[in-house]
Amino acid sequence: MLQCSRPGCGWQAFAPSAAAAQEQYLVHLVEAHATDVDAEIPDGMVQVHVGDDEWMTVSFDEATELHELKQSTDVSTRQRERD
Ligand SMILES: [Zn+2]
Repeated sequence: MLQCSRPGCGWQAFAPSAAAAQEQYLVHLVEAHATDVDAEIPDGMVQVHVGDDEWMTVSFDEATELHELKQSTDVSTRQRERD
């Protein structure tokens, strides 16, 4: 089960597939943890935490790919089977 990696956050994905879970996770990250980002996020874009204090504004698809890279030992390998 995909869980939020932020300290103190108990969020868990409840999606039926790894891909859907990752999308939920991204939505959660933006909604729950992006409030301290001092930038406007355009429609359809998300901000992804990529480093110590580094954020990237990317499309949803790009964010999913980034998230896959970070989770490469976990859900990402299974998600590829869908393709
Ligand atoms: Zn969280």
